[in-house]
Amino acid sequence: MTALSPLCFPHETPPDSGEAIEVSPGVLWMRLPLPMALDHVNVFAFEDEGGWSIVDTGFDTRKARGIWQKLLDGPLSGAPIARVLVTHHHPDHIGLAGWFQAEHGAELLTTRTSWLTARMLTLDNQPEHVPEAIRFWDRAGMDSAEKARRMSERPFNFADMVAPLPLGYTRLQEGQRLAFGGRDWTVRMGNGHAPEHATLWAEEGDLVIAGDQMIASISPNIGVHATEPEADPLAEWLEACERLSGFARDEQLVLSGHKLPFTGLPARMTQLIKNHHTALERLMEHLALPRTAAQCFPVLFRRAIGPAEYGLALAEAVAHLNHLYQAGRISRALDDDGAWLWQAK
Ligand SMILES: [Zn+2]
Repeated sequence: MTALSPLCFPHETPPDSGEAIEVSPGVLWMRLPLPMALDHVNVFAFEDEGGWSIVDTGFDTRKARGIWQKLLDGPLSGAPIARVLVTHHHPDHIGLAGWFQAEHGAELLTTRTSWLTARMLTLDNQPEHVPEAIRFWDRAGMDSAEKARRMSERPFNFADMVAPLPLGYTRLQEGQRLAFGGRDWTVRMGNGHAPEHATLWAEEGDLVIAGDQMIASISPNIGVHATEPEADPLAEWLEACERLSGFARDEQLVLSGHKLPFTGLPARMTQLIKNHHTALERLMEHLALPRTAAQCFPVLFRRAIGPAEYGLALAEAVAHLNHLYQAGRISRALDDDGAWLWQAK
């Protein structure tokens, strides 16, 4: 067995707001801020004869639109935005896609699930928390102070951070080939972090557009939500990562949705997969006694979870428990408060 090359970061300093770093000829890396614990999203632009192809967009906020305008007047000036490729439906990635379509005449390319999910969610405005969401929190054993805080606030609505998506898009699907940025690319589907998450692999072998499927220094959130409370996204994520590992090469520069571009993808895939398997084994030991999803935070995350991360942590804990449950390794029963108590068989 040969040792895998370690991860390398050819550009250790990210671009400043409104500026771009050329990571490969004609390929620009830019950042948009996010008002969350994870405070940025990476976006990329690929130069072509007909205009720029951009990958992902950031949230739709006034601040993000202002930064995009600075980019359009600066590093991206001289050519229109011809296409917007969106890796997956999360608001930090698709937030301004509709704005680029409506205001800039750009073509939107994304997967069918991403487009349908994002468009459905932008139309689903709720003034109050829906009963299904509250039941999901109860089932997961949400901390009572956290629940009370949420109940006192208006729920997050997808449309708060995502511009309206006009009718019409171009579908990206598994195995499809497309040309932009002076390269030919193959689309390969990721999964688990978001359903039908597009990744694009340059056939020349130099670049991979990874979205949030593969990230260098954080593990992509694998979460279960009230939309599909019995889902097992961890199984889908592991399947996708095992499959995509077969295309990973040390020399590829990986352009991820967050953190730094990196090389050493084969090693990173191995780590990402292994981290979840070891987390599952820690959970199995912890579940010698019955526990709620929220009571699994210490063994899953091994650090304190603050309010800013609570929702993602809860979603991730349920994902790991659902995975063990679907595999028949643990059982569950409701306690008096309506929370699932999970226990090793
Ligand atoms: Zn993201």
